[in-house]
Amino acid sequence: MVQTKWVVRDKSKKSVYWPSQEMKERAFVGSDKIYKDAAKNPKAFWANLAKDGLSWDRPWKTVYESKPPYFKWFVGGQLNVSYNCLDRHLEQRGDQDPISNKVAIIWEPEPESERARKITYMGLYRKVCKFSNVLKKIGVRKGDRVGIYMPMIPEALIAMLACTRLGAIHSVVFSAFSGINFKKRVDDCEAKVLVTCDGYWRRGKQINLKKQADIAANAKSVKKVVVVQRFEGKNEFKLKMKKGRDLWYHELMEKASEDSKPVPVESNTPLFLLYTSGTTGKPKGIIHDTGGYLTQAYWTTLFNFDLHEDDVFWCTADIGWITGHTYSCYGPLSVGATMVIYEGSPDVPDWGRLWKIADKFDVSVFYTAPTAIRMFKKMGKKWPKHFDLSTLRILGTVGEPIDLETWNWYFDYIGNKRCPLIDTWWQTETGGTLVNALPGIGPFIPTVAGRPFPGTVADILDDRGKPVKKGETGYLVFRPPFPPGLLRGVWKNPKKYKDTYWSEYGIKTYYTSDGAKWYDKHNIRVTGRVDDVMKVAGHRLSSAEVEDAITSHFHVIVSAVVPKPDEIRGQVPVAFIVLKLGVKPSPEVEASIVKQVRKEIGPTATPHQIFFVKDLPKTRSGKIMRRFLRSMLVNKKLGDASTLQNPEIVDYLKKVVGYKRK
Ligand code: AMP
Repeated sequence: MVQTKWVVRDKSKKSVYWPSQEMKERAFVGSDKIYKDAAKNPKAFWANLAKDGLSWDRPWKTVYESKPPYFKWFVGGQLNVSYNCLDRHLEQRGDQDPISNKVAIIWEPEPESERARKITYMGLYRKVCKFSNVLKKIGVRKGDRVGIYMPMIPEALIAMLACTRLGAIHSVVFSAFSGINFKKRVDDCEAKVLVTCDGYWRRGKQINLKKQADIAANAKSVKKVVVVQRFEGKNEFKLKMKKGRDLWYHELMEKASEDSKPVPVESNTPLFLLYTSGTTGKPKGIIHDTGGYLTQAYWTTLFNFDLHEDDVFWCTADIGWITGHTYSCYGPLSVGATMVIYEGSPDVPDWGRLWKIADKFDVSVFYTAPTAIRMFKKMGKKWPKHFDLSTLRILGTVGEPIDLETWNWYFDYIGNKRCPLIDTWWQTETGGTLVNALPGIGPFIPTVAGRPFPGTVADILDDRGKPVKKGETGYLVFRPPFPPGLLRGVWKNPKKYKDTYWSEYGIKTYYTSDGAKWYDKHNIRVTGRVDDVMKVAGHRLSSAEVEDAITSHFHVIVSAVVPKPDEIRGQVPVAFIVLKLGVKPSPEVEASIVKQVRKEIGPTATPHQIFFVKDLPKTRSGKIMRRFLRSMLVNKKLGDASTLQNPEIVDYLKKVVGYKRK
């Protein structure tokens, strides 16, 4: 079979690729004129996109309004997200006949003995309408918060969309986070209702999620808990349902009406909260708005992944993260695409599972994280080789910087040297992708994310706020007009919003906390976080959050957690712990601290290595100098220790760690 080559190698530069003629012709954007045109009037550019991409109940009065550090898009415009993701597609894709209905979601369960579920746009519309009526019946109204704690099952998306139908605000929490962690978020946003499930499959085992959800259900604000039966009653563990509070999803759905009118909301109304780690121990609730967020979700999905009617899109991100929200739910559904979601682990029953799924459903656009690709690379090219991946057209990556070898492996063995590889830089706070090459424009350069999305204004600044020269590392920032999907605040914490994003370079410059440099005039290479935030297997984790969990252990006085580079997971947390007087380090103490971290946060935060030490390097004001520990772990130059309160600790720590640099 002759396979279309969607990408061609640059004749003069070995590892630079460009879209082929076929790709340019097929792509929604095939000329870089779009960047110039958008830059002339970014507000008009986004206004046209919002008009063309979304259905509005009422047009906006003002395109963009700013009162730094706050800003608004499409002021006065009204829309409903579930209407945009479902109702409006029905005329085109609905048709009452279920066979000709376009499939919205293909769900693959982890056990291969279970059959995949295909849900059409019509089917999804009906379920969302019903569930919105369920939520309404149990008291959810516009503006109320609903906590969603679910694995990758269609009901997670149904719950999210049902909230948006009512104008309620959802807060989805990663199902691998502990119940205690979930409760912190529920307490902060004062969720009235929780939606969860009995459990899910993970590496062949049934995980009891309801037990964890019960911890959060004890929060003062929670009135009702809706429980989906993922195992359809065949769970291997006993399920406890609290009378009067816990309700079965299937029973409520059976009685619910399909008649549900979407509630239009003003464009700048919060759509959802997503808690993320910052530099303190307390996760912050990032607020995303409705019209701006959906505009960016819609157009980045269409432009980056170039989804046409016959494409099958698969973003492997879990719904608990922003990538799951935007590219496993709102983006693909708002453009009316067919997408795959998968419940389980990539190694069940073996390392061929993802490629088997891609083959089975003819996936044409595949989006994943560098950490997953590094694992596949380690497992070897024999796994993808067993499967037919010839339908693939575009590959994408997100979550952390991707190194040259991993990029090449992905390009060679998954894309078969035919597919453009889009390295998308963005954050929970930006709502959608912001820096990447577009498939019909290119270039695709390993380790270089690419160009800021048309209509956005990025810069790289030095410490004093001056733009850096080509090749110099600085800090990535965005200037007005800010991307429509950018966060609109931190839930109940305006100070945090201002301090974190708008204080480094003033209230008119969005500070990303990422280091970056210009590869050339247009393209950006992102070097990674410059604050105390780690990316562990693509998951965002703050040093302070893990330290708080460790310090809550009764044997611990103080701790410092820093990232260490890891071949597969990108970074792993390493803990330095000072134990209370009289407590001796032992495997039992270590195991008990690890257990505490897993209980407080979840397995993602498990320290990879623990050093029990007598003290930590501290500044004169008593602040722990994590920078020293970070450098020690990688045998990097340590810098001036004379500013420390306890400089003598450095030689001691060098011995403990096995620091090799002279
Ligand atoms: P999160 O909010 O969990 O999505 O994490 C956002 C952070 O992930 C960013 O601030 C970056 O440090 C990192 N990141 C995401 N995508 C990329 C990318 N393509 N290249 C480099 N770093 C990335």
